[in-house]
This record gives sequence, C-alpha cells and structure tokens, in this order.
Amino acid sequence: MDEQLDRAPCGFFVLNKDFEIIEMNQTLKNILQTDNTPIHFQELLTLPSRVYFQTYFLPAISVYKQVREMYLNFKLDKQSLPVLVNVNEHNGLYEGIIVKIKTRDEYETQMLAAKKNAERIQQETDLANEKLMALLKDVECKQRELEELNSDLQTLAARDELTGLCNRRVFRKDFAHAIMHAEKENGPAFSLAILDIDHFKKVNDQYGHAVGDEVLIELAQKMESIIPKPHLISRIGGEEFAIIFYEENADKAVGLAEELRQFVAQSKWESVAITISVGITRFRKGDSANSLFTRADDALYESKGNGRNRITSL
Ligand code: GH3
Ligand code: MG
Ligand code: MG
Repeated sequence: MDEQLDRAPCGFFVLNKDFEIIEMNQTLKNILQTDNTPIHFQELLTLPSRVYFQTYFLPAISVYKQVREMYLNFKLDKQSLPVLVNVNEHNGLYEGIIVKIKTRDEYETQMLAAKKNAERIQQETDLANEKLMALLKDVECKQRELEELNSDLQTLAARDELTGLCNRRVFRKDFAHAIMHAEKENGPAFSLAILDIDHFKKVNDQYGHAVGDEVLIELAQKMESIIPKPHLISRIGGEEFAIIFYEENADKAVGLAEELRQFVAQSKWESVAITISVGITRFRKGDSANSLFTRADDALYESKGNGRNRITSL
C-alpha cells in the first residue's frame, strides 16, 4: 500500500464482493488496535451495528454503489467505538474510509453539558436580578417614605400646630437673618410688626377655648390672605403674632399692617369677630434683635394703652 495512504488521518479499507476485508491501512489497524485483518467487515461491528449493516448498508451499496457517512459502532476489546463509514464500489471491490467520531461525541456531550450549565447559571442570575430589582424597589420605596417623613418632620419643626403659620423658631431664625443682611452696607432694610388680639381672654371666657382656637385659625387665614410673601407671618405666642415686612419702603410696610388691622376689624367672621392692636417699627443701624423687638413691643403697648384696635409706629 502506498505509504501516504497507509498513514492517512483516516482508516482505509478494501472489501471484496463478499464484504471480506482484503486490505486495510495502518491507521485503521491502530483504530482497531490490531494487526490482524478480520475476514469479514461484519466481524468488526457490535451486534446492533451488524443488524444495521444488514438492513441499510447492504441494500444501499447494492442500489447506489456507495454509502455516505453511515454511523456504525466498532466492537473493540472492552468498549465500542462510534465511527462514520464512507464506501464506494470500484471495479467490483468496495473501497472505504473510517472516521472516528468518539472525540466529537464527547465534545458534543461536553458542549451540551456546558450549555445546560450556562442556561442554569443564566436562570439563577435572572432570579437573583429579579430579587435585586425587588429589593431596589423596596429601598426606593423606603427612601421615599423617609423623604416624606423628613419633610413632614421639617414642616412639624417649622409650623405652628394650631394655625399652620411659621412658629417662633422660624421667626427667630429669619429675624436674625434679616438683621444680619440689613446691617451690611446698602443691606435691605425691613420692618417688624407685633400683633396682639384685643381682649382675647374674654372670647375664651364667653365662648370657650375651642371657639378661641377657631378664632386664632381664622385670624391666621385672614393674615395670609392680606399679607403676601415674601413677608413672613409667625405665631410667636398665644394670641401674639409677628410679621417681618421685607419692604424697602417703611411707609408701605405701615400701610400693609394698617390694611390688615382694618380687614380684621371689618371683615366677616365665621367664629367670633375680634380686633387686633399692632406695634410696628423699622430696622435702624446698630439695632440688635432685642432692641428692635422691644421697640415694636413698646409700640404695641402704646396701641393697647390708646384704646386698642389701632396701629402705632415707633
Ligand atoms: P389684651 O387686649 O390686653 O391683649 O387682652 P387679652 O385678653 O387678649 O390679653 P391677656 O394676655 O389677658 O389674655 C390672653 C389670652 O389668650 C389668655 C389665654 O387664655 C388666651 N390664649 C393664649 N393662647 C391660646 C390658644 O392657643 N387658644 C386659646 N383658645 N386661647 C389662648
Ligand atoms: Mg397677649
Ligand atoms: Mg391680647
């Protein structure tokens, strides 16, 4: 046999018309792990492959004079070996080649296992991602709740519970700020007004504390409807309120405070009609929070002393 054919990377054999092996190359001998040439091709095969050989190989070769890529199993010493067989009829003989497919089979099995593994990992990853997304949503939800709580807390810390106006804390802070800015050269001046309900004790005594509360709420609403932002209205005591008028023009601030007093005195009341007394003063250079507040309070005291339901500017 030709040296190259003998060492070819596939098994080569020649069968006579009775399918007895008359020649095989060294590669096939190596595959079969034998040096002996078996008499009949069938002797190489496992029992199921012999049946397959009888049923399909023999009719195919007889009709088509060739067999293409037929899958058969060689019977080795302790195991079977899957091979692909190609055979052509040539001058009354059958020439064939054998290709081992065990390696490919194993490779495919490994590929299949790897694919299944990858699919399982993908499923686990998807599941973990779903859980993560749910957790993330949960965290976002909690975050929003926390933000809402924080904002509620801030409102609670800044608002007067009964009237919803700014409380004493906010007033102190904004008052200090206003003084700090006004102190600067060309800083914006402002006015401070202190308001007190006239004879409020009588309202409580006559109608009860609950009605007194309603009066306070209604007064707060009236003040907010007349005094626009950025002026700051705060409840600084029981029936005492302060307004910081961020107003460049002092007379305008007095005008707004007087407008409020008149509105309170003349408008319709759902609860009980009341009047207010007002003391108003203007920031002067060198004023401290205390001096400014005391001057506004003195002005309020004058309004009370002069008969109430009036405004005094100092
Ligand atoms: P004046 O005109 O001198 O200010 O007389 P007044 O009665 O308003 O003043 P006084 O300081 O004697 O009484 C204030 C009253 O305000 C006493 C108190 O019961 C009442 N008051 C303070 N805070 C509240 C509150 O939150 N609700 C109610 N209903 N009453 C309050
Ligand atoms: Mg008072
Ligand atoms: Mg009062």
